Amino acid sequence: MSREERIEMLKKELKAVNTYNRPTYCEKCGAVMVFKGVGEYQCEKCGYLDYDDYGKVRNYIEKHMGANVAEASKATGVTQKAIRDMLKEARLEIAPNSTFFLRCEICGAAIRWGRFCPKCETAHHRELEEMARKSRHRDDMFGYSTERRQGEEGSKRFTREE
Ligand SMILES: [Zn+2]
Ligand SMILES: [Zn+2]
Repeated sequence: MSREERIEMLKKELKAVNTYNRPTYCEKCGAVMVFKGVGEYQCEKCGYLDYDDYGKVRNYIEKHMGANVAEASKATGVTQKAIRDMLKEARLEIAPNSTFFLRCEICGAAIRWGRFCPKCETAHHRELEEMARKSRHRDDMFGYSTERRQGEEGSKRFTREE
């Protein structure tokens, strides 16, 4: 991953964290809520615990293994779209014995997190690898072959030819 890509990802991550309706002030005493990790916040004065949307959904799913998105949304007040986004960002993982939560965007198989089932994801990677192999092969031919291929980009790389 390039430096730019990593920065982009971090920015997205931070933006996602900020949109999870983090509790800023304590519901009980009005003091500042301090971030404790994984969606949990604690009042610095009275110790009251509260959660952002991510924390709420996470807690609900941990207590209700078989719940689906609609049920989690109704119980937590977090929109179904937000819950699906959390799942897609792989911020939430569904328990193995859960009935369903997400579907693979390619084949529709039930999945626990991310956007694709392991089979489709592997197939997708195989495709990328095959493409990488082909373009590497092409580079090899441009770099070392004595046979000149005409009219293709990269012909400037024929510097090794006699
Ligand atoms: Zn408080
Ligand atoms: Zn699939």
